[in-house]
Amino acid sequence: MTPFVVGFDLDMTLIDSRAGVHATIRALVEETGVFIDPDVVVERLGPPLELELAAWVPTEQVDPLADRFRELYAQLGIEGTLALPGAAEALDAVRAAAGRTLVVTAKYEPNAWRCLEHTNLTADAVVGWRHGPQKGETLVEHGAIAYVGDTPPDMDAARLAGAVALGVPTGPFSAAELEAAGADVVLASLMDLPAWLEMHLASPAAAPD
Ligand SMILES: [Mg+2]
Repeated sequence: MTPFVVGFDLDMTLIDSRAGVHATIRALVEETGVFIDPDVVVERLGPPLELELAAWVPTEQVDPLADRFRELYAQLGIEGTLALPGAAEALDAVRAAAGRTLVVTAKYEPNAWRCLEHTNLTADAVVGWRHGPQKGETLVEHGAIAYVGDTPPDMDAARLAGAVALGVPTGPFSAAELEAAGADVVLASLMDLPAWLEMHLASPAAAPD
């Protein structure tokens, strides 16, 4: 078996982080008095925190609020985090086939590790603070053969890296939207990843151009 790397997005791909983000935003609002609607934030997870905050507060408040969010998240946000169905099995399937698992996420890296630990998910490597094209660069650096994600920028990142773009409609985007965004394959959920991997490794010609 040849070693290979499969990349995974974190939020709404491996984990459902909505409850923790919601609790953290509520605490941030209470502490600072800024107006941010946590219901809106958790329905569009994916972009970097700074980008989300910029939709709600003046530019000069973005960095201090982002720093405070990350501190509060470490205390309040991890607890409610859940593994999505099939996440553990998907990571296990990669390792069972002699592959390595790489989490590439916009999340602050220490908080990404905390979420994985809390949900009992094991990744071989985590690279945080990456979004859009930066995710693609990280996938190239690690030689990932595929990237699994729940948003159109995840599909772009995979294609940029020449990796198979694997969509999962467990986040804000439907299967049709992920297909339109260039997904090579849309799985119903991570439950289907082991079967896809087995097929792909048997016939890697299915890789994109
Ligand atoms: Mg995501």
